[in-house]
Amino acid sequence: MSEISGSNSLNIDWKCPKCGKPVTSGIGFRAGVVKGISYKIGDKLDWSGKRTWPAERPAGGNFKTIGYFECENLRCESWNDCFPEVQEVVITIHEDVICSALPVFYQPDKIDFFVLSPEQEI
Ligand SMILES: [Zn+2]
Repeated sequence: MSEISGSNSLNIDWKCPKCGKPVTSGIGFRAGVVKGISYKIGDKLDWSGKRTWPAERPAGGNFKTIGYFECENLRCESWNDCFPEVQEVVITIHEDVICSALPVFYQPDKIDFFVLSPEQEI
């Protein structure tokens, strides 16, 4: 099993769910080959490489995965001790195409880029 580090990024028009300010830094996530690729909604995942997440492409290219972002607004309630807390997003992938990203509150203490089945609700 190869070690995976780093992430890809999803660049979307996104507002912080806590303060409503635009977040421009993108969402860090892992799907397909993990090598710092910048995606946007509607893009198809690249699976060409050994360092893929998950290790095996889910059946049909259908799955969900948890991504992460931080709010850049210094006055946002997500800032604590001069650092923004990491917020979570569930990214839905259908036939390898990135369809949507929605803020969730899932496992705020863990950054594990969790992969969920397409039916799984959180
Ligand atoms: Zn905020």
